[in-house]
Amino acid sequence: MVHIKHPYHDLAQGRWLRGNLHAHTTRSDGERGPEAVIADYARRGYDFLAITDHDITTTAAECAAWAAASGMVLLPGNEVTAGGPHLLHIGAERHVPASADRQAVIDQITGQTTGGFAVVNHPNSHANFDQCPIAMMRDWKGYIGIEVFNGVAGRADGSAYAANKWDMLLAEGRCAWGFANDDTHAAAGDIELGWNMVNATARTPAAIIAALRAGRFFASTGVVIESIEVRDETIHIATRNAQRINALMNTGKRFARSDGRTIEVRVPDGATYVRFECWGAGESFAWTQPFFLTRS
Ligand SMILES: [Zn+2]
Ligand SMILES: [Zn+2]
Repeated sequence: MVHIKHPYHDLAQGRWLRGNLHAHTTRSDGERGPEAVIADYARRGYDFLAITDHDITTTAAECAAWAAASGMVLLPGNEVTAGGPHLLHIGAERHVPASADRQAVIDQITGQTTGGFAVVNHPNSHANFDQCPIAMMRDWKGYIGIEVFNGVAGRADGSAYAANKWDMLLAEGRCAWGFANDDTHAAAGDIELGWNMVNATARTPAAIIAALRAGRFFASTGVVIESIEVRDETIHIATRNAQRINALMNTGKRFARSDGRTIEVRVPDGATYVRFECWGAGESFAWTQPFFLTRS
């Protein structure tokens, strides 16, 4: 008997909300002020956004004022930058200063009472394709996921994608969620590259943060997942616009494929996790979170 542990229970009881958790403004190296960046996302129909300047935390009070002006949910946070690989701090109660001891940074983030969390950013960016080495990601404890897609990394050195390191971590038994973010810097062209579709009980900061922590979301660059159902040892995924869906297991092996909008798979022997990559037109994807398998 296989037990499938996954974050997608009772999706019909929640609502899908779209958001980006990584954006810069003129407070660090972005080209536009916070109000202009927020207005741009609001105009595109986003539900939530985090302004995450380098080592500068947007506060809950600022976010409340921006939310009132824009109609979006703003999540307090920053991008921990100096001294090591970059980490997002989302749902910040107070600023966590950068330190070369990244484990201490993560501990301070997870020790706050607002339920905030840390995410490893663009692990395969920079000319060495290794902005965050896998050895560090293996050592650290307490971060909840990694950017499997970072939009701005696609026009800079290195790779925008990081599913290779994700599969290594998942195969080692680490629960890490996959995020897609813009990492907006430029005044034009850096928005709607990657986002997260969160199934939350309410359109509030607390509900969105809780759903993200629980992995109740999928990462997307254009493909929309409409349903995820688990029955006994079978997983069924339906999308609006995928042209191919790949089912993957340890360590990145593809074990099933569908050239269509849906796929149904029985979980394979020997897998400790499975996940799905949904490929659409152009360079559009959606990534489900992992489904962990235990046998009894
Ligand atoms: Zn960064
Ligand atoms: Zn950034």
